Amino acid sequence: MPLFEYECTLCRDNVDNSLKQIEKNATKKAVTDLVKKYDNINNIVVVDLEKEKVIAEHGKRDKEATDLDFYLNEGTVVAFFNLQRNFRFSELIYEEGDEKKVKCPFCDTKKVEKVISSFAFTSDLSTDMPKPDLSGLPPSVRKNTHLGEYIEEKDRPKKNR
Ligand SMILES: [Zn+2]
Repeated sequence: MPLFEYECTLCRDNVDNSLKQIEKNATKKAVTDLVKKYDNINNIVVVDLEKEKVIAEHGKRDKEATDLDFYLNEGTVVAFFNLQRNFRFSELIYEEGDEKKVKCPFCDTKKVEKVISSFAFTSDLSTDMPKPDLSGLPPSVRKNTHLGEYIEEKDRPKKNR
């Protein structure tokens, strides 16, 4: 039976926005504000790998929850996120109508996107517009790709055309 991967756009945006902030200015206050602002983030730890020290840290890590790590600033900084639920999740789809019922397991929104295959990603690269969706890439690659240019929600390609 078909198992598909989805990403909750709201939960993912919380992480994306946090990463943008951390890239710009990873102060203790900024990281504290992010953890307080975004419900799905339990804990953020930002480490400077060159100086081998923690730049900022806030929140309580839940060992049962999801840990993600993102390399920033050309791999010199790593941000560890502890999320209550991963924004990416799998769902079994038995019949056509099922897809409309897919909800984020954390926030219950139906604003979810199907994660496209690497094949679909490659074919997207052949066009200049719209910009390729990055969600099919491994997180480390994807976050480095985000570094130069953040893709606004409105500019992301529509799925299932
Ligand atoms: Zn969500």
